Amino acid sequence: MKTGYLLPTLWLALTSVTWANSPDWVTDQPQLEALYQDLHRHPELSFQEQATAQKLATQLAELGFEVTTDLGGHGVVGLMFNGDGPTVMIRTDTDALPITEETGKEYASKVRVTLPSGAESGVMHACGHDLHMTSFIGTARQLAANKDQWQGTLMMVAQGAEEVGGGAKAMLNEGLFERFARPDHILALHVSASLPAGKVAIRPGYTLASVDSVDIQVFGKGGHGAYPHTTVDPIVLASRIVLALQTITSREISPLEPSVVTVGSIHGGTKHNVIGNEVTLQLTLRSYSPQVREAQLAAIKRLSAGIAMSAGLPPELYPTVTVHEQESIPSTYNDPAQTAQVREALQLALGAEQVEDTEPVMAGEDFGLYGRTGDKLPITIFWLGTVEPEQFNAARINGTALPSLHSSHFAPDYRAAIPVGVKAMTQSALMLFNANPAADPF
Ligand SMILES: [Zn+2]
Ligand SMILES: [Zn+2]
Repeated sequence: MKTGYLLPTLWLALTSVTWANSPDWVTDQPQLEALYQDLHRHPELSFQEQATAQKLATQLAELGFEVTTDLGGHGVVGLMFNGDGPTVMIRTDTDALPITEETGKEYASKVRVTLPSGAESGVMHACGHDLHMTSFIGTARQLAANKDQWQGTLMMVAQGAEEVGGGAKAMLNEGLFERFARPDHILALHVSASLPAGKVAIRPGYTLASVDSVDIQVFGKGGHGAYPHTTVDPIVLASRIVLALQTITSREISPLEPSVVTVGSIHGGTKHNVIGNEVTLQLTLRSYSPQVREAQLAAIKRLSAGIAMSAGLPPELYPTVTVHEQESIPSTYNDPAQTAQVREALQLALGAEQVEDTEPVMAGEDFGLYGRTGDKLPITIFWLGTVEPEQFNAARINGTALPSLHSSHFAPDYRAAIPVGVKAMTQSALMLFNANPAADPF
């Protein structure tokens, strides 16, 4: 069924592919747009994605997948067995953010919650995970309708709690690869707020950074602000530590290695004339190589302890450095060989002019974890353009900034982006199913 929603150019792009493994495309744009709007209107925060997961589970079951729910929180696994061949896993994330939507769209989220801090907030799919889920269901439908085009096991994984770095970890800890299937190939996409709808972007190797949240608790010996010589002032110590931390990236890490050490929060003291006992610093660390991460953490501990020692504090009052391991995520490394195959699939699916090369970013994604188990499975994530092309061109001409991911104004051109996401992911999966020696060659 051809609909008024579908842009004529996209319809042409969807129907004009002539290569060997061109599936018989199911036209489901109206259902996918309705799904997108429904998901967008009803966002759920990390580890609370129950209703969202249920919607995905229901759709996968209707398509003939064997579905398991509640893995690693509200994770969903859908398996479709289709003879001998590789296992291809496609992952979507499902959670939203505590952001009050300001897009003014008719389908904008009006959901509100009380956060653990007691503050009221709106909830919004400001990272585009609603678009990821819509592409995910569209891809599942295309592959289910074209089982004659591939052989093997299709593994659809909907993972929650990406925004807190907990979802992938939880699914892996609960046996995703042992209880269900060990994938030969793992794929994901993420929306881009700086790429026009219609385009995708991809790069081999390091693509997204590792992320660590670190607390430094700085101790001192408090007293009267008028008698500082009788105290060890933790605010002065914390200030020296903040400045010393600046030398980690500038003087300890190779200038050829990406490294970020940001102190995002500093809290201490109660009153003008009181020298307190402690100060808390909160840091975010970013890097690509595990060696750089280790060097950052070692330097933070060494510099903090050294500064406390230089102030005359005893070892029991040296700062404590706490790494929030449960929130840590490694860098995302796109397997070069598999990524070259996916890139080829994207070009075949969309046309070479729609596929861009891209640079790595210092944002993080827990998708990287799927490639960091003992098996070192090959993973590939690519970016899906979402900016309405006229808005993109206007921003470029006028030099104005586009709303970023996590912005309350982020409003993807979902009607144009959905079919591109579906087509890109479907062709990538078909390429990997068919390129594997276990399956029939083209
Ligand atoms: Zn995000
Ligand atoms: Zn995201």
